[in-house]
Amino acid sequence: MSTPLAPPATIAFVGLGMMGKPMATRLVAAGYKLRIYDLSQQAMSEFVGANPSVLATASPRAAAEGADAVVCMLPDGKIVRAAVLDGADPVAAGLAADAPLIDMSSSAPTGTVALGKALAARGFAMIDAPVSGGVRRAIDGSLAIMAGGDPVIVDRARPLLLAMGKTVFQAGPLGAGHAVKALNNYLSASSLVTMCEALIVGEKFGLDQELMADVFNASSGMSNSTQVKAKPFVIPRNYAGGFSMALMAKDLRTASDLAREVGAEAHTLKDMADIWQRAYEKLGREADHTAIHKILLGE
Ligand code: NAD
Repeated sequence: MSTPLAPPATIAFVGLGMMGKPMATRLVAAGYKLRIYDLSQQAMSEFVGANPSVLATASPRAAAEGADAVVCMLPDGKIVRAAVLDGADPVAAGLAADAPLIDMSSSAPTGTVALGKALAARGFAMIDAPVSGGVRRAIDGSLAIMAGGDPVIVDRARPLLLAMGKTVFQAGPLGAGHAVKALNNYLSASSLVTMCEALIVGEKFGLDQELMADVFNASSGMSNSTQVKAKPFVIPRNYAGGFSMALMAKDLRTASDLAREVGAEAHTLKDMADIWQRAYEKLGREADHTAIHKILLGE
């Protein structure tokens, strides 16, 4: 039960999108055996093409069969719950009793607590372990990982998590990782909005945008947005940050719901959630989150 999830353990990996693909690639490189599942046949074919030792499966249940743990990297907690428990051929129908579910998606904490209870009633363990750092840090394995749940299971999963990330925080009980992740993305989304506004105002005054980014990065206005998003994605207006606006709007809703649930008056959070929801409704599913710049330009 307490054997560490170290290579060559077999891991079921569900969700091979922008983040899941590089994270699963790190697991293969570390020596884990992978059984994968994604709704997209193309995502699975591409992954197996690049990693021929990996087994593509036909359902979450088939992926979970014979696995020592299941990792989900799916868009949100509702999709995780369907893949794990409520949907067709779910993970829970194929899972061994001592194989934990590790939800690395950015899911809503209250849904995570409910899913954990439902799984515990069937004898399964679950931890949440969402990540921060984006595609770049998923590729180089330096993600920040914030885990929630039984510390014994988190410790068991630590070798697996450290194959994908550099830092693993034990954030608290189940759902704590998802709560702090949503709050982190509130800060990230806010700094992107304020940076875009600063660039827009400065440019109208006649300032050079690259120079502004250099000044911010050497000054107290520095943030992840000024450091890794201004010059690569916002100023050249390619809007290719690798994280969708739909997912950022979802994270802001999660953080705003959390504030409401705990009775906190977080006015700026509510405003920020509204800004991102409107931007998502205007630009649609395909838009990258850095395209918030377009909205703030009034385009
Ligand atoms: P994505 O949309 O690129 O990938 C999601 C993958 O899940 C896709 O391949 C899709 O086909 C698959 N999928 C959807 N529904 C499914 C189902 N029912 N069964 C199986 N597969 C299904 O998303 P992403 O950017 O990889 O993000 C994944 C999670 O990580 C999200 O919760 C997101 O908020 C979070 N996250 C993303 C980033 C980022 O920079 N992209 C950073 C940190 C956290």
